[in-house]
Amino acid sequence: MADCLFCKIRDGLQPADIVYQDEQVVAFRDLRPQAPLHDLVIPREHIATLNDLGPEHRELIGHMHLVAARLAREAGFAESGYRTVLNCNRGGGQTVFHLHLHVIGGGRFHLSGG
Ligand code: 5GP
Ligand code: ZN
Repeated sequence: MADCLFCKIRDGLQPADIVYQDEQVVAFRDLRPQAPLHDLVIPREHIATLNDLGPEHRELIGHMHLVAARLAREAGFAESGYRTVLNCNRGGGQTVFHLHLHVIGGGRFHLSGG
Protein backbone atom coordinates (compact mmCIF):
# COMPACT_ATOMS: atom_id res chain seq x y z
CA MET A 1 0.00 0.00 0.00
CA ALA A 2 1.66 3.15 -1.29
CA ASP A 3 0.64 5.53 1.45
CA CYS A 4 1.11 3.29 4.48
CA LEU A 5 3.77 4.32 7.00
CA PHE A 6 4.52 0.77 8.11
CA CYS A 7 4.72 -0.50 4.52
CA LYS A 8 7.33 2.22 3.99
CA ILE A 9 9.27 1.02 7.03
CA ARG A 10 9.03 -2.56 5.74
CA ASP A 11 10.40 -1.39 2.37
CA GLY A 12 13.19 0.71 3.91
CA LEU A 13 11.64 3.95 2.60
CA GLN A 14 11.04 5.30 6.11
CA PRO A 15 13.81 5.03 8.72
CA ALA A 16 13.21 2.76 11.69
CA ASP A 17 15.29 0.85 14.18
CA ILE A 18 14.62 -2.67 12.93
CA VAL A 19 15.20 -5.34 15.56
CA TYR A 20 14.02 -8.47 13.74
CA GLN A 21 12.77 -9.56 10.34
CA ASP A 22 11.97 -12.74 8.48
CA GLU A 23 9.86 -13.74 5.50
CA GLN A 24 6.59 -13.06 7.34
CA VAL A 25 7.17 -10.16 9.74
CA VAL A 26 9.27 -7.09 10.49
CA ALA A 27 9.80 -5.73 14.02
CA PHE A 28 11.12 -2.29 14.97
CA ARG A 29 11.32 0.07 17.91
CA ASP A 30 8.34 2.33 18.52
CA LEU A 31 9.11 5.97 17.74
CA ARG A 32 7.57 7.10 21.03
CA PRO A 33 8.30 4.27 23.47
CA GLN A 34 5.95 3.94 26.42
CA ALA A 35 8.43 1.80 28.37
CA PRO A 36 12.10 0.69 28.18
CA LEU A 37 11.05 -2.07 25.76
CA HIS A 38 8.51 -0.97 23.17
CA ASP A 39 8.70 -2.78 19.85
CA LEU A 40 6.12 -3.23 17.11
CA VAL A 41 5.76 -6.49 15.18
CA ILE A 42 4.10 -6.08 11.78
CA PRO A 43 3.22 -8.57 9.06
CA ARG A 44 4.98 -7.95 5.75
CA GLU A 45 1.56 -8.20 4.15
CA HIS A 46 -0.45 -4.98 4.40
CA ILE A 47 -3.39 -5.92 6.61
CA ALA A 48 -5.18 -2.84 7.95
CA THR A 49 -6.77 -4.13 11.16
CA LEU A 50 -7.48 -7.26 13.16
CA ASN A 51 -10.90 -7.29 11.46
CA ASP A 52 -9.21 -7.96 8.14
CA LEU A 53 -7.65 -11.26 9.20
CA GLY A 54 -9.01 -14.43 7.71
CA PRO A 55 -8.40 -18.11 8.35
CA GLU A 56 -5.43 -17.87 5.98
CA HIS A 57 -3.71 -15.65 8.56
CA ARG A 58 -3.96 -18.15 11.42
CA GLU A 59 -0.30 -19.07 11.25
CA LEU A 60 0.80 -15.44 10.76
CA ILE A 61 -0.91 -14.11 13.88
CA GLY A 62 0.60 -16.97 15.90
CA HIS A 63 4.02 -16.22 14.44
CA MET A 64 3.70 -12.53 15.38
CA HIS A 65 3.24 -13.61 19.01
CA LEU A 66 6.20 -15.98 18.89
CA VAL A 67 8.34 -13.11 17.59
CA ALA A 68 6.97 -10.85 20.35
CA ALA A 69 7.98 -13.40 22.99
CA ARG A 70 11.41 -13.73 21.42
CA LEU A 71 11.95 -9.94 21.44
CA ALA A 72 10.87 -9.75 25.08
CA ARG A 73 13.17 -12.64 25.99
CA GLU A 74 16.11 -11.06 24.17
CA ALA A 75 15.46 -7.75 25.96
CA GLY A 76 15.50 -9.56 29.31
CA PHE A 77 11.79 -9.33 30.14
CA ALA A 78 10.72 -12.96 29.80
CA GLU A 79 10.72 -13.62 33.54
CA SER A 80 9.89 -10.19 34.93
CA GLY A 81 7.06 -9.81 32.43
CA TYR A 82 5.84 -7.75 29.54
CA ARG A 83 2.66 -6.92 27.68
CA THR A 84 1.48 -7.42 24.11
CA VAL A 85 -1.21 -5.09 22.77
CA LEU A 86 -3.08 -5.08 19.49
CA ASN A 87 -5.34 -2.07 19.01
CA CYS A 88 -8.22 -2.39 16.55
CA ASN A 89 -9.72 0.69 14.90
CA ARG A 90 -9.97 4.16 16.38
CA GLY A 91 -12.14 3.18 19.33
CA GLY A 92 -9.48 0.62 20.24
CA GLY A 93 -6.71 3.19 20.04
CA GLN A 94 -5.38 2.27 16.61
CA THR A 95 -3.67 5.18 14.84
CA VAL A 96 -1.62 3.37 12.17
CA PHE A 97 -3.74 1.18 9.93
CA HIS A 98 -1.25 -1.58 9.22
CA LEU A 99 -1.66 -4.38 11.73
CA HIS A 100 0.94 -4.24 14.51
CA LEU A 101 1.52 -6.00 17.78
CA HIS A 102 3.03 -3.85 20.54
CA VAL A 103 5.59 -5.55 22.80
CA ILE A 104 6.03 -3.47 25.94
CA GLY A 105 8.25 -4.27 28.89
CA GLY A 106 9.71 -2.58 31.92
CA GLY A 107 6.81 -0.21 32.46
CA ARG A 108 4.42 -0.05 35.39
CA PHE A 109 1.25 -1.78 34.31
CA HIS A 110 -2.18 -1.93 35.84
CA LEU A 111 -4.57 -4.75 35.13
CA SER A 112 -6.69 -2.97 32.54
CA GLY A 113 -4.28 -0.60 30.85
CA GLY A 114 -1.42 1.89 30.87
P1 5GP B 1 -1.40 2.27 17.53
O1 5GP B 1 -1.88 3.42 18.37
O2 5GP B 1 -1.87 2.38 16.10
O3 5GP B 1 -1.69 0.93 18.12
O4 5GP B 1 0.17 2.37 17.56
C1 5GP B 1 0.90 3.04 16.61
C2 5GP B 1 2.30 3.14 17.17
O5 5GP B 1 3.17 3.49 16.10
C3 5GP B 1 2.45 4.22 18.25
O6 5GP B 1 2.93 3.63 19.45
C4 5GP B 1 3.43 5.20 17.63
O7 5GP B 1 4.33 5.74 18.59
C5 5GP B 1 4.13 4.36 16.59
N1 5GP B 1 4.60 5.13 15.46
C6 5GP B 1 3.92 6.09 14.78
N2 5GP B 1 4.67 6.55 13.77
C7 5GP B 1 5.84 5.87 13.80
C8 5GP B 1 7.04 5.92 13.00
O8 5GP B 1 7.16 6.67 12.02
N3 5GP B 1 8.03 5.07 13.35
C9 5GP B 1 7.93 4.21 14.40
N4 5GP B 1 8.99 3.43 14.65
N5 5GP B 1 6.82 4.14 15.18
C10 5GP B 1 5.80 4.96 14.87
ZN1 ZN C 1 0.94 -1.15 5.22
